[in-house]
Amino acid sequence: MKLDVLTLFPQIITPALQTGILKRIQESGELVVNTYNIRDWTTDRHKTVDDYPYGGGAGMILKPEPIFSAVSAMHPTEDTEIIYLTPQGVPLTQSIVEGLSIKSHLIFICGRYKGIDERIRKKIVTKEISIGDYVLSGGEIAALVLIDAIGRILPGALGDFESAHEDSFSKDFLDHPHYTRPVEFEGMKVPEVLLSGHHENIKKWRYTQAIIRTAERRPDIIKNLELTDEELDILREDKNN
Ligand code: SAM
Repeated sequence: MKLDVLTLFPQIITPALQTGILKRIQESGELVVNTYNIRDWTTDRHKTVDDYPYGGGAGMILKPEPIFSAVSAMHPTEDTEIIYLTPQGVPLTQSIVEGLSIKSHLIFICGRYKGIDERIRKKIVTKEISIGDYVLSGGEIAALVLIDAIGRILPGALGDFESAHEDSFSKDFLDHPHYTRPVEFEGMKVPEVLLSGHHENIKKWRYTQAIIRTAERRPDIIKNLELTDEELDILREDKNN
């Protein structure tokens, strides 16, 4: 996958790509991230990227010309997804991440100030994505959230032992609780079943805990699932305890 990031602050993006899974997946060649400064596509002496809003009001708007030129220099094809990170976009979910992870070319446009000229959204943006109902000062951190979420599920990014399929939002229920050594810490013991070596029982305990945890923390998810009789029994029993 080729992923081009257009930003006024490449220095926010680049260092975050030099560590851990993101570094590994780039080294493997599965993911190529290029970060570009939108300012490089300005044509005036002052390298102007923003201007005052028509109609007045506070804040500056990113001008259309440099962003149109920058996107065009990325040679988008019919299959390229041109994504504007914006609080007005569709809220990001794991299923959106999975959909994007099978694309071969993504372009991210990071806004700043009051945002971008509307004509950019109308003419060249193919998808608008929000990372949540709050407002950041720029799109760079949102772009990094997406790069991380996509990068870690590309083939070869995670070893078998840290398989993404076991994580929350990759299956119906949230992930189950995890424990590591020591067996007892500050008076709290690791559940007996996890020490038993009985794989079937461990699997059942994890499944049960995942269901209970999801019901407690995300009733909205549970409400939209068609639970089996076994799953309903688990929840009933938990309520009675
Ligand atoms: N005036 C815009 C609005 O109310 O919709 C907000 C502009 S915000 C201060 C500046 C830039 O940060 C946006 O252009 C966008 O690229 C980015 N941004 C802010 N919040 C975001 C969010 N929740 N998700 C994705 N990008 C966000």
